[in-house]
Amino acid sequence: MTTSTKASGAPAPVGTGPLLSVRDLYVNFRTEDGVVRAVDGLSFDLERGRTLGIVGESGSGKSVTNLTILGLHNPMFTTIEGEILLDGQELTTAREPELERLRGNKVAMIFQDPLTALSPYYTVGRQIAEPYMKHNGASKKEGWERAVEMLGKVGIPHPRERARDYPHQFSGGMRQRAMIAMALVCNPDLLIADEPTTALDVTVQAQILDLLKDLQQEFGSGIVFITHDLGVIADMADDVMVMYAGSAVERGTTDEVLRAPQHPYTWGLLHSMPRLDSDPGGLLSPIPGSPPSLLNPPSGCRFHPRCGYQERVEGRGRCVRERPSLAPDRASACHLTADQKRTIFIEEIKPRLG
Ligand code: SF4
Repeated sequence: MTTSTKASGAPAPVGTGPLLSVRDLYVNFRTEDGVVRAVDGLSFDLERGRTLGIVGESGSGKSVTNLTILGLHNPMFTTIEGEILLDGQELTTAREPELERLRGNKVAMIFQDPLTALSPYYTVGRQIAEPYMKHNGASKKEGWERAVEMLGKVGIPHPRERARDYPHQFSGGMRQRAMIAMALVCNPDLLIADEPTTALDVTVQAQILDLLKDLQQEFGSGIVFITHDLGVIADMADDVMVMYAGSAVERGTTDEVLRAPQHPYTWGLLHSMPRLDSDPGGLLSPIPGSPPSLLNPPSGCRFHPRCGYQERVEGRGRCVRERPSLAPDRASACHLTADQKRTIFIEEIKPRLG
């Protein structure tokens, strides 16, 4: 066991295993129409100081997974099975006071829309100072100084003056920076960023991504970065997990997954991405069909109703009958053989990607 000293000055115990370990996670919501299987047997690890990009369409379970890590689900309607270990501590069975102690301190979240995370009634400085005071027993003055320091770190000009402003007095990019300052004020070990740049224009998006990378270097946080944008993944993530219908269908290092993707769904995502060199008047190639209903997901491989490769799998109807599993390391959950995946990618997919 080693220890690290957080910016707050308090030594925090650091385990020797992964920072975050999710094992066989199932999250079900009870609704009037039936049970929604939002996360369906998910396992992954995140090491300290690394960024895991989670990519997938809406409804793939990316955001539910991360809200579950934070304990931000409604226990009245939600059933959770499996393990979520944060630095060795089990979160699925943790009580609310313990989760409250962890949130904002050991684990923090950056949301897509800062206006939903920042209160319009309080100054930006006060909202950044409060979690610092709460988790570190700091005085108002210390909290305020820390808020000013954090606003400076995230690149807000004249931070001492701007700390007195309200969120509506900030531009969209500045609000996003303020939310990052609020998330990092207690130097969390784990930062969850849920589509943090989707609502921003491309220039501000690039600035925010650079800022997150710089701050990660400085604070050494592990980051889970949720996005539907593979371009952002290429820029930000060390490792990638592709999710579909509540489970992981492919994972590996960013280089492996983007250079030699193995799963038909990942091929579809790559095809549907706009490219700088593509014909401006040309059409994108979306994945046919739509994501499945999680009330009644398809049998076998969840992707089979949209997949054009199932006829190539040995064993007629296997994709409809048998759910493919995902091996622990570099892997894709698909019945095609490793040779088939490699050949299809090189001969059929790569030439179309250019
Ligand atoms: Fe397609 Fe079958 Fe592979 Fe699923 S298991 S992705 S349906 S080929």
